[in-house]
Amino acid sequence: MKKWKLVLLILLSLLLIFIIVTVFNTMRVSSKQPTPEETTILLNEEEAIARFSESLTYKTISYQDRSKFDFAEFDRFIFYLEESYPEVHDQLELEKINEYALVYKWEGSDKNKNPIGLTGHYDVVPVLEGTEENWKQDPFSGAIVDGVIWGRGTLDDKIGVIGILEAVSYLIEQDFQPTRDMYFMFGFDEEIGGEKGAKAIVDTLEDSGITFDFVLDEGGAIVKNMVPGVDHPVGVVGIAEKGSATAELSIEGSGGHSSQPKSSTNIGRIAAAIAKLEETQFDADLQGPGKALFEYVAPEMSFGMKYVFANSFVFEPLIENILLDEPASAALIRTTIAPTIFQAGEQYNALPERASAVINLRLMPGETLESVQEFIEETIADEKINVTVSGSESSKVSSYDTWQFEVIQKAARNVYSDAIIAPYLMFAGSDAKHYDRISENTYRFLPVLLTSEDLERMHGTNEHISVDNYVNAIKVYAEVIMVANE
Ligand SMILES: [Zn+2]
Repeated sequence: MKKWKLVLLILLSLLLIFIIVTVFNTMRVSSKQPTPEETTILLNEEEAIARFSESLTYKTISYQDRSKFDFAEFDRFIFYLEESYPEVHDQLELEKINEYALVYKWEGSDKNKNPIGLTGHYDVVPVLEGTEENWKQDPFSGAIVDGVIWGRGTLDDKIGVIGILEAVSYLIEQDFQPTRDMYFMFGFDEEIGGEKGAKAIVDTLEDSGITFDFVLDEGGAIVKNMVPGVDHPVGVVGIAEKGSATAELSIEGSGGHSSQPKSSTNIGRIAAAIAKLEETQFDADLQGPGKALFEYVAPEMSFGMKYVFANSFVFEPLIENILLDEPASAALIRTTIAPTIFQAGEQYNALPERASAVINLRLMPGETLESVQEFIEETIADEKINVTVSGSESSKVSSYDTWQFEVIQKAARNVYSDAIIAPYLMFAGSDAKHYDRISENTYRFLPVLLTSEDLERMHGTNEHISVDNYVNAIKVYAEVIMVANE
């Protein structure tokens, strides 16, 4: 046999082996979705909706400046809960921490099992001054118009608090008895970090030696048309949240008259430093929660997409390049760099003596404030620039190949049988991170079906939710409690 024929034969054999291996990998991909059992929950919807609507009228607004809190509204809200859910307050123990953080305990029958917690927050963000006019319904009216409930908290996150209480109330009516201790924990300052709410709740529970098998908080939703190539709506459950760091870059030195500048100025050096950071970027790596999302979504895709994701050992660089094309998917696989403030100069003909910039970075799990500081210093390589980094570390990554995660999947699919429920990485912060200390797993999921435009309304204008969505959220919470206690 001629030499070139032999080479060709070897190459063809290798190609054949490659095809066999990769197709075999693809064939092995199977759905990670549990089979749903359609929910049988029947609610008195009219009453449930009316109670939710009224809960939205209390102005439980949290402000960065704590002295601005109107605690009379918080008192009225708590009183409203007691009045609206008498059976819950009858059957469950209620402990108030820092007066306004609420911890309800529903005693289970089996002391050998670890408790499970459901959590949410009833504070809401203020309505931005000057945007009141743009609301189609008053943000604190709780108006119900054409099957839609309007107001602050309909998405973030009175829906969680009232939805959970409504679910508990329903289960009590059905004489349901949990096997595990169930905790329902509601913060009142999540929007400003949760220091006095969630964090204080966790401190108290930690002192009593309580550890959860899992805690469910607000977070990702079920989103239509979220993943190209997947017809089903995809419900994303945050198994981790990114850290948020503030890096300040500053430089001080001689100013001087603008008629005879040095070749290097303060503004120029800070600008150059930012340009270098944007050019370099943190390494992208499809790992952890981002990778997990695709592991769960890929089985529902076409053969081609399944093939690519099932053989990520070959295609990972290609997948990463595609994800880097869009800011939302890029944020899933790398620490992001966002310059948000730039300050220098006052007068057109004077060189400023000081220039500074603030960069907001969102940290991937595994990245730390320390490693961010190192990265910035190494990248800008300018000793005259002072770099300080502060902020919050990324959360722990919860496991998803577990019965706990399957509880969430099952509960959601019992109500939304069509939805694919997958793990993912949350970019925004939540109270959930406080629970990392006392819970094996923390999941971040708001069981409602939304479009991506709905998500933008969360802290914005015209926050609202459809009546159907609200009713389904109650059902999912009730299903979580039932499935977790099977
Ligand atoms: Zn929230």
